[in-house]
Amino acid sequence: MFSRILIFFSIFFFSAPLFAQDYDKIQIETTLVRDNIYMLKGSGGNIGVCTGEDCVFLVDDQFAPLHKKIVKAVQKISSEKIRFVINTHWHYDHTQGNELMGKLGAVIVAHENARSMMSGSHFMKYFKRHAAAVGADGLPVITFTEGITFHLNKETIKALHQPGAHTSGDCVIFFEKANVVHMGDLYFNGFYPFIDTQYGGSLAGVIQAADEVLSKINDETLIIPGHGSLSNKKELQAYRDVLQDIYSKLKPMADAGKTLLEVVETKPTASYDETWGKGFLKPDIFVQIAYEGMTGKAQE
Ligand SMILES: [Zn+2]
Repeated sequence: MFSRILIFFSIFFFSAPLFAQDYDKIQIETTLVRDNIYMLKGSGGNIGVCTGEDCVFLVDDQFAPLHKKIVKAVQKISSEKIRFVINTHWHYDHTQGNELMGKLGAVIVAHENARSMMSGSHFMKYFKRHAAAVGADGLPVITFTEGITFHLNKETIKALHQPGAHTSGDCVIFFEKANVVHMGDLYFNGFYPFIDTQYGGSLAGVIQAADEVLSKINDETLIIPGHGSLSNKKELQAYRDVLQDIYSKLKPMADAGKTLLEVVETKPTASYDETWGKGFLKPDIFVQIAYEGMTGKAQE
């Protein structure tokens, strides 16, 4: 009984300070992905950059305290202005730089659900953290429902909405000519993903989004994940297969009305934990988030 109680409390009191950090120590690392597409890593969601003769086009902009460093990193690869920032979704580790980018004159673009979430403040229960509303300069001025296409820098950039996946307002960005995709937080490369089931996300939706992307790419495609290293089709397929297998274990238990504690005790992720459970989310937390999203019931 004691061990059952211990499991219960370790889940219930999860509140890792995931974003507490010293921004002064963070360096922005620039990787040339292919042609005129780059990936910037600092802290928070990976940034995608498309450079060229027209302007700089950014995918996400991380945390506000990193803004100056991000702009400096962009200036090292392009002398053009940052004209567009598209947000893959509303989470602050991808959008907190919006306001400062907006003040620089960038046009912010996002799915309409992402804008709607950014307009208000929210309490994210799994992190025990308030996400503040984005200031006026940082709110998207262009929104879309199903998708939007940009014709810039001799590139065709398509953003497609993936409903009910990591959140209710995610999009995947395809750089068609360069054959590069930015998946935002629909893809955590190498570890269990956070799924914002509190705000419209679901494990089934993340699997569906991965399937959608897999159907549109080829073996040469390079994938910028929301978190983790630059990736490819083979690795995305492996990620999708892991999530599908876990889903197929959780779903019958949800249908049978099992409690979260009963589900956690079956260790549905055990065969993957050695590889996938050492990153952002511990296995039990991942199971809790995925399962509560499936049943619509938070732990009592
Ligand atoms: Zn996210």
